[in-house]
Amino acid sequence: MSTSVRGYAAHSADSELVPFAFKRRDLFPDDVEIDIYFCGVCHSDIHHVKNDWGGEEYPIVPGHEIVGRVTRVGSSVTRYKQGDMVGVGCLVDSCQQCRSCKHNLEQYCNDNTLTYADLDRHDGTRTYGGYSEKIVVTEHFVLRIPEGLDLAGAAPLLCAGITTYSPLRRWNAGPGKKVAVVGLGGLGHMALKLAKAMGAEVTLFSRSPGKEEDARKLGADYVVISTDDRQMGSVTDTFDLIIDTVPYNHDINPYISTLSVAGTIVLVGYLGPLDPTVDSAPMVFRGKSLAGSLICGLLETQEMLDFCGEHGLVSDVEIIAIQDINEAYFRMLKGDVKYRFVIDLESLRKQ
Ligand code: NAP
Ligand code: ZN
Repeated sequence: MSTSVRGYAAHSADSELVPFAFKRRDLFPDDVEIDIYFCGVCHSDIHHVKNDWGGEEYPIVPGHEIVGRVTRVGSSVTRYKQGDMVGVGCLVDSCQQCRSCKHNLEQYCNDNTLTYADLDRHDGTRTYGGYSEKIVVTEHFVLRIPEGLDLAGAAPLLCAGITTYSPLRRWNAGPGKKVAVVGLGGLGHMALKLAKAMGAEVTLFSRSPGKEEDARKLGADYVVISTDDRQMGSVTDTFDLIIDTVPYNHDINPYISTLSVAGTIVLVGYLGPLDPTVDSAPMVFRGKSLAGSLICGLLETQEMLDFCGEHGLVSDVEIIAIQDINEAYFRMLKGDVKYRFVIDLESLRKQ
């Protein structure tokens, strides 16, 4: 028997999010049912709702930074029981057969299922995300939240955390390495915290002079204002790794100039053709690389959560009621959030 659930949905690219009732499937043997306590607000939620990437079907119930408590488990579930505190990120399913899935890189499975704005593998219905009371997820895609972490602050780890942790690990951020982060928003502030905890020397590139003091508190050793040519010139040939979190098209050539020989810039924000185009000369003459990265698989996401548990790392959050979600989107588009909005779903239960 399916369960009726309340949430908030967008019904078109230019309408506000409004209350929306829908059904969650009844539990398959390997399913876990979760009462959602907190859900982070990612800029990807805005991209989906506004159809920035095209092809969206509505209604969309966004939300892929989910923390909550297990309320029921299917008969074959072994890793979770009623009462456990768990998380769900951007994925709720994948084929489990392909090379990517077999290498714990479910995010690159061609047949994976996004937490929202996708089609359920079991019954072809649309998936709805964490701006809602409850979710039902296959056990393999459920993560354990380490004890002692603030739950609202832990929610953004499920996307902002893993999206920055994974490239930092893959490109060996650590002692002796110079890491820079472009953009101080949800992803950017987690990148600063994680890179610092890994032992790297950390620099923030920001277009916003007002964020310098916060950046230092979050872990930045240095701050470079990206609109100031003199400051940009002072870090030529410096960084081993740059994580670029800017959501929209921008000129990445000035950042490539700040990479050291054989350094890598990893794009995690903007999707699409870069304009102006990228100059290949620094790649050829100085062995620099341009790369991209998408969240990560379940194994590394659990590793990231455990790392945050050991280091007491969570996101800096502004907790909001779900009724304030449209205002939160408006503020995020102005870069006015410190540094992640997180919805307290209690506000929906009281509605
Ligand atoms: P956010 O909280 O809105 O932060 C974005 C930051 O980028 C801003 O705070 C701002 O920092 C900087 N920025 C520079 N130019 C901007 C512009 N024209 N408009 C807005 N911000 C600009 O966003 P987020 O949640 O961190 O997400 C960042 C991007 O990553 C989004 O595109 C999102 O879809 C994407 N994302 C990717 C993955 C993945 O797996 N690859 C996962 C999650 C999200 P300053 O003011 O400091 O310059
Ligand atoms: Zn996200």
